[in-house]
Amino acid sequence: MATIIPGMPILPGRVHIREVGPRDGLQNESITLSTAQKLQLIDALGATGLDQIESGSFVRPQNVPQMADSAEVFAQISRRPGVIYSAIAPNEVGARRAVAAGVDMVQVFLSASESHNQSNVNMGIEQSLAHVANMAAIMRGAGRPFDAVLSVSFGCPFEGDVPISRVLDLCGRLLDLGAEQLTLGDTTGMAHPVLVQQVVLAFQERFPRHPLRLHLHSARGAGLANILAAMQVGVSAFDSSVGGIGGCPFAPGAPGNLCTEDLVHMLHEMGIATGLDLPGLMATARMLEEMIGHEVPSQTIKAGICKHITDNA
Ligand code: ZN
Repeated sequence: MATIIPGMPILPGRVHIREVGPRDGLQNESITLSTAQKLQLIDALGATGLDQIESGSFVRPQNVPQMADSAEVFAQISRRPGVIYSAIAPNEVGARRAVAAGVDMVQVFLSASESHNQSNVNMGIEQSLAHVANMAAIMRGAGRPFDAVLSVSFGCPFEGDVPISRVLDLCGRLLDLGAEQLTLGDTTGMAHPVLVQQVVLAFQERFPRHPLRLHLHSARGAGLANILAAMQVGVSAFDSSVGGIGGCPFAPGAPGNLCTEDLVHMLHEMGIATGLDLPGLMATARMLEEMIGHEVPSQTIKAGICKHITDNA
């Protein structure tokens, strides 16, 4: 059922959240959790009702040592029925390793600006797309879907504005390569609500049959405002990170990824279902604080759950 607020566009009745903490979050922590701790975290997240959990990364271990044990993590996850455990892979070698490790859905990534792609994976966008085509073939061969993430879709830390036409062209290329799920990333928190709506509306006009997921960051505090703006134009699938950890490599200490508890708290307050257990998420974020040895950026952990929230999952 959609939420109807007079004077406001119809909001989705239900939002799907993909949890990215065990990968996007943890890889930005200076401390590396043990395999057992990661498994405990992933299991606790699964127990809250999350059915898509980004659980590892198959980039070169020397590049991201925090994720070096991803194959072991995937070998030992106690899988919950219906939960998709995903991982990112940067190239064909990573995709093969991910498939062999039992990853349910492999995420490939590409930047919407040449400079960011160069700095991230050391090659141009066209060269990256050639790799994505090979990776798509590997995943098709293994019967696994792939998710394509287009980074810096709302602005590039090196180039500034990213033309919407370029974002759409790259979306078209990724969909042509067979991407089952398309995610636009606001990798360094440069999006604002008006821009979010402009990009989403342009996407829907060009690709009316393809659902869109957004990976929004809150580096400059606009994360939840951007979520509302996106929901107002029909987006109902988002990424977020338990405790709000990770995702801001350019500004240490600043919030990066949207916090799962903060997002779920806001949505439940608005009468929008997520299927998630908010107290369970809070307990998981507190467990995470113990594991990483410092406070998480989560606001809801600090302020507590509003008393009148019944578990509106
Ligand atoms: Zn992120």
